[in-house]
Amino acid sequence: MTDFDFDLFVIGGGSGGVRAARMSANYGAKVGLAEEFRYGGTCVIRGCVPKKLLVYAASFSQAFADAAGFGWEVGETRFDWSKLRAAKEAEITRLEGVYLGNLESAGVTAFHQHAVVASPHSVRLADGRELSAKHILVATGGVPFVPDIPGRDLAITSNEVFDIERLPERVVIVGGGYIATEFAGIFNGLGSQVTQVYRRDTILRGFDDDVRSHVQQAMRGRGIDILLNQDVAGIEGGAGDLEVHLKSGERRAAGLVLYATGRNPNTAGLGLAEIGVKLGPNGAVAVDAWSQTSVPSIFAVGDVTDRLALTPVAIREGAAFADTVFGANPTKADHALVASAVFSQPEIGTVGMTEAEARASGPIEVYRAVFRPMANILAGRDEQMMMKILVAGDGRPDSRRVLGVHIVGPGAGEMIQLAAIAVKMGATKEDFDRTVAVHPTAAEELVTMRAPVSSRGGLKRRPENPRDQGWPRNPEGC
Ligand code: NDP
Repeated sequence: MTDFDFDLFVIGGGSGGVRAARMSANYGAKVGLAEEFRYGGTCVIRGCVPKKLLVYAASFSQAFADAAGFGWEVGETRFDWSKLRAAKEAEITRLEGVYLGNLESAGVTAFHQHAVVASPHSVRLADGRELSAKHILVATGGVPFVPDIPGRDLAITSNEVFDIERLPERVVIVGGGYIATEFAGIFNGLGSQVTQVYRRDTILRGFDDDVRSHVQQAMRGRGIDILLNQDVAGIEGGAGDLEVHLKSGERRAAGLVLYATGRNPNTAGLGLAEIGVKLGPNGAVAVDAWSQTSVPSIFAVGDVTDRLALTPVAIREGAAFADTVFGANPTKADHALVASAVFSQPEIGTVGMTEAEARASGPIEVYRAVFRPMANILAGRDEQMMMKILVAGDGRPDSRRVLGVHIVGPGAGEMIQLAAIAVKMGATKEDFDRTVAVHPTAAEELVTMRAPVSSRGGLKRRPENPRDQGWPRNPEGC
């Protein structure tokens, strides 16, 4: 028996909150959940899911162009943004219904309104009701951050970009992270002229340096104007007719300016600090390995905790919370060796250490293959694929273990999921090598890279693999 209205009240109906709510209800808890916007959260409504739909849409322009090399004559093509937007909307509305349906069928009481934390054991809804709960889970995600520049209000963020009225002829995208890079590819593929403005010398800081330079070069090869070591001084103009002033003094006209300069934890006005929940410098909810805050009855999962801002991680954190608090199975979310994909064009798949991180950890061997994927040959496309494996070198306790795998090219996201299983299991380079190749695939490179291109410090740098010159590297395999 409980004296509370709920055993658990979840604020936020995104990936992490919904998973925690459903699992806790399945464990027998009485669960309430408040969502002020749309069920499904950022990933489903204005993140991963609609983004991937747009990436698919954008990839057709290249497919149409490449088709001629395979004997096809493609007539005139025309893209209709409003049709894509409507189709995208129908799909996310369907998914939103699935999310709500799953909550309801698990017995969770959903409140479609804003909620704040009123005390360690109560929440206040926008309609004024105050509900008590033994535990509160904060899963409110993140909000786009836009620096304070003149004309800031003329720019949009990833919150608005999916629902723009028309496809702009020219787009300026600010930032060099996941969202900026993915949308540069999307707009470019859909036919807009894209300028990406990034304040340092290579996009995608934090990724392996070879990945960064390979993707950057390939994006430029596809026609994206990437301005490096540049920043925006201000934006002027009216809707659809903007002028971006760069700090260098240059200007760029644009129909749309998209700011993708990071996301901050969504804690403003939630009432957390007022009741003693410790927050980090950017408002992130500080939690321990059990996702518990400094107030023992309050937990937090997902982007709001600013640990690893990825949907599947939020889901795991939500599940670990439910197992721990209601499943009598104390579980910590495991943040080690989380694979991820960037749906840039070309795509990135990555797991484990970057080369710089691996070198800092001790002696390593670097295996790398750069080659034209088979489909690009008849298509007459020069873009190359890159695969890289980092291996712990001799004399380390983890000697021969694969420390990182990085892939750039078609299917990288799909491939890295499978490579991640091996890496997570602690596979060695020899485990990769004794796995027979699947032929003819690009993925077979992962098990056929025989000679390292470099070992510690790059002193023994050898020539690239022969396959660098083009596919196939192992013609006898055909
Ligand atoms: P990121 O943190 O990936 O990138 C932010 C970018 O903005 C960086 O290039 C950063 O530069 C730049 N930046 C930050 N502040 C400023 C500033 N004041 N002026 C100019 N540039 C600035 O954030 P995103 O918004 O792209 O994405 C948010 C999060 O969403 C990601 O971290 C990721 O976890 C998640 N996400 C994941 C995806 C996936 O898994 N495929 C897809 C989309 C998002 P600098 O490098 O110098 O710091």
